[in-house]
Amino acid sequence: MSMTKEGSRVSAGSKVCLGGLLLVLLATGCAVNPATGKRQFTLITEAQEIQMGRQADPDIVGALGLYPDESLQAYVRELGDQLAAVSERPNLPWTFRVLDDPLINAFALPGGFIYVTRGIMAYLDSEAELVGVLGHEIGHVTARHSVSRISRAQLAQLGLGVGMILAPELQPFEGLAGASMQLLFLKFSRDDEREADVLGVRYMSRAGYDPTQLSEVMAMLTRVTSEEVGPRGPEWLSTHPNPENREGLILEEAARTEVSRDPPLVAREAYLRRLDGMIYGENPREGFFREQVFHHPDMAFSLDFPQGWRTANSKQAVQALSSQEDALLVLTLGEGATPLAGLRSFLAEEGMQGGTISEAPVNGIPAAAADFRFTSSDGTLDGRVVFLQHRGTLLRFLGYAPSSAWPARRGAVRASLESFRPLTDRRFLDVQPARLKVLTLPRSASLSWVLEQEGASHRMEEVRRLNRLEGNPPLPAGHMLKIPVGGALPEDL
Ligand SMILES: [Zn+2]
Repeated sequence: MSMTKEGSRVSAGSKVCLGGLLLVLLATGCAVNPATGKRQFTLITEAQEIQMGRQADPDIVGALGLYPDESLQAYVRELGDQLAAVSERPNLPWTFRVLDDPLINAFALPGGFIYVTRGIMAYLDSEAELVGVLGHEIGHVTARHSVSRISRAQLAQLGLGVGMILAPELQPFEGLAGASMQLLFLKFSRDDEREADVLGVRYMSRAGYDPTQLSEVMAMLTRVTSEEVGPRGPEWLSTHPNPENREGLILEEAARTEVSRDPPLVAREAYLRRLDGMIYGENPREGFFREQVFHHPDMAFSLDFPQGWRTANSKQAVQALSSQEDALLVLTLGEGATPLAGLRSFLAEEGMQGGTISEAPVNGIPAAAADFRFTSSDGTLDGRVVFLQHRGTLLRFLGYAPSSAWPARRGAVRASLESFRPLTDRRFLDVQPARLKVLTLPRSASLSWVLEQEGASHRMEEVRRLNRLEGNPPLPAGHMLKIPVGGALPEDL
């Protein structure tokens, strides 16, 4: 899923519009952007922009999931709507969502679709900081940054009706994301980032929030990156590059911007209270690995992946890739009334040739399985698929490889397919995610003392980062802390 990032883009910051020939070829063209005041060249009309956002939004929600807390969703939506209302494009179909994703990230789609993850929400420290993040993302939309860097070739592929070439189940390992997901990987330029910061400061100030808080967000992102939080490191920086002296520039911009409210809002306490009880980190109820064994507490099953295969669990699939990267195992939800019906329609797909069907149960679970060969213009794949009816849910588990590699992989694939079994161990079934506990210190205390009292499950450095603390400082009475508690996995009990 690669995409030219530099090739044919026209910078949003470009003062000179391309004229003549191109404009004749392409219906849209130059216009003064209301947010930036700059002349801007784009291929995409506002109606197309909105259509792109509307088409991509369900993919994003499907891939990452909405955080299941309506009051938190409503909170972010209300803040976002306030900001959008004071922006230069108040009439877009603005949509603000909290994604159920532990990564530190926020992003915008064309047309006014803005996403923050629960991961970034945990690391933000006030309502003004959240408003800063939302304002920055709104800025990317009002300045039409994504839209102005989409080339004609990309436009042809993006969310405008180009289907998958392969059946979805035969997409390559990383291929679950549809074409519209590519919108996420449009990397902004440093100029875009500076512009979005300036617009973020503008919208925050108009809405009455302290705009200097946006620089605190940038400082947090820098710290989290430099201290490496492993898998929770900020995705943000992979698409939002850090301009030089960013915090300084934000503070300068804030200093010359008038805030509509005196004193400006920060609202730390109100924000932190919203975070109390929020899931923190990976949610093991949606599945977790113990080496090559995968357990899914919510769906009550376990299975073994072959030794040495690289595994991944996402909202839509559990997958494993052989170390030679020549074979793939994929478990997803299946379609069909029964295992046999699911299998029959799978084998009826274009290019598919099925072998003998077996209806032998797998570890007591009703199942239907068969070998298959799939032929397309890309070559021939051999594999085996099993449909399983487990506790009212139809699952499809398949493994495959290019025909040349299949004889060497068949045994490992088959063993994995046949390892699918009910999960009955209560310790695994009852596992719970870590949640943030927000507490106000009744009296002064050191951070380490508080952590010990609370039986905090996460490392001291992580708690420091979450709370913007250094060392083990004495904390005053009345200080509010967010501490991840719970979330221990069975082996850790
Ligand atoms: Zn940005």
